[in-house]
Amino acid sequence: MAARSPLSRRGFVGGVASALGVIGIAPGAQLWARGVRRIDGETAFGPEEDYDGYAKLANNENPYGPPESVMKAMMRAMKYSNRYGYPDSGLADELVKHHGVKAENILLAAGSGEILDVCCNTFLQDGKMLVGVDPSYNVFYSQVTSFKSDIIKVPLLPDYRQDIPAMIRATRQNYRDVGLVYMCNPNNPTGRLVTKDEIRQLLDGIPEDVPVLIDEAYHHFVDDPSYATSTPYVIEGRQVIVARTFSKIAALAGMRLGYALAPKMLVQKMRVNSTGSINALVRYGGVAALNDTESQAWVKKQTIDLRTKTTKELASLGYASIPSDANFFMVHLKRPVQPVIDEFKKKGVLVGRPFPPLNEHLRVSIGTPDEMSRFMVAFRDIMTAKTAKAG
Ligand code: PLP
Repeated sequence: MAARSPLSRRGFVGGVASALGVIGIAPGAQLWARGVRRIDGETAFGPEEDYDGYAKLANNENPYGPPESVMKAMMRAMKYSNRYGYPDSGLADELVKHHGVKAENILLAAGSGEILDVCCNTFLQDGKMLVGVDPSYNVFYSQVTSFKSDIIKVPLLPDYRQDIPAMIRATRQNYRDVGLVYMCNPNNPTGRLVTKDEIRQLLDGIPEDVPVLIDEAYHHFVDDPSYATSTPYVIEGRQVIVARTFSKIAALAGMRLGYALAPKMLVQKMRVNSTGSINALVRYGGVAALNDTESQAWVKKQTIDLRTKTTKELASLGYASIPSDANFFMVHLKRPVQPVIDEFKKKGVLVGRPFPPLNEHLRVSIGTPDEMSRFMVAFRDIMTAKTAKAG
């Protein structure tokens, strides 16, 4: 695979970069040229290089990658790659300490996406329905629908917060048919949080045997004292499942690690539906990530600073954003979102997919400072061109 070597890649950058310049592609797009290589005499974008050149603001990832502590731990575990059995990394014990729960309260999974899947299989059997707000994490809603379950979708309030009294009403009115209530906190795609008082209101307002799945994928980015994790309810033994992931603040999305915290009875029911298939590297990396609080604090601060800076710049251009407590935000474009997403892609910037019914809002993940600059350059370009056309 000589074409993949850094040397041969570098060899073709110059020519293509200047070609891109000639046809007037935006500055950000020139970064694509980094990945250009030649296969059998033809110039092509290899999938890896093509991907690497984009500003990736579409999937709410940590753009900085795992810190050195985590990389080292995973490299140490590499020697177990050929084994089915290897020494225990102590991940479950670390989580027990971290959350003040018992081992029986933890279910490990290949990403919190697997936990959501397990919840479908465990709580939505026999035509049971899900209650949740709209929009919310639509990948989960697709999982539920493909499981042939119905979703009672409760619209967001005008300020994009979750409507707790309406969720309570929907659950009570359909009590016999509801298998699970879903709450994403902070919510994806809006970034708005549910306060600890509202969570209590929800849990106290619905029948106590209805399980509530609280998805805390973006927990680590919240800085608002009105918010709190719902893990104390697990310790109390309430019918609460908290889903957590190492994909966001811990930068391990590609390694697949997540977990549920739930009362023993719920974990036992869920366990039969889980694969338990987690790779050796991330079992070690996960322990290091839990202990590297300094790196996570840095990522959090960097993310919040860049979110504030970007939303202020957008506001100065006349585009308001929904207040967010996560590593992404939504900006109101005042026009349909899909064509704008397509324009961003042409300029080498990947932004979030549409989230109906918010069809004029664009979800933007917080990337590196460089990626956010590329986003702003592209935004100005696209929105001014559109305005000119519309005018
Ligand atoms: N829950 C929410 C709200 C998410 O946004 C995501 C991923 O973007 C997930 C769960 C799944 O994350 P993972 O499977 O990588 O842990």
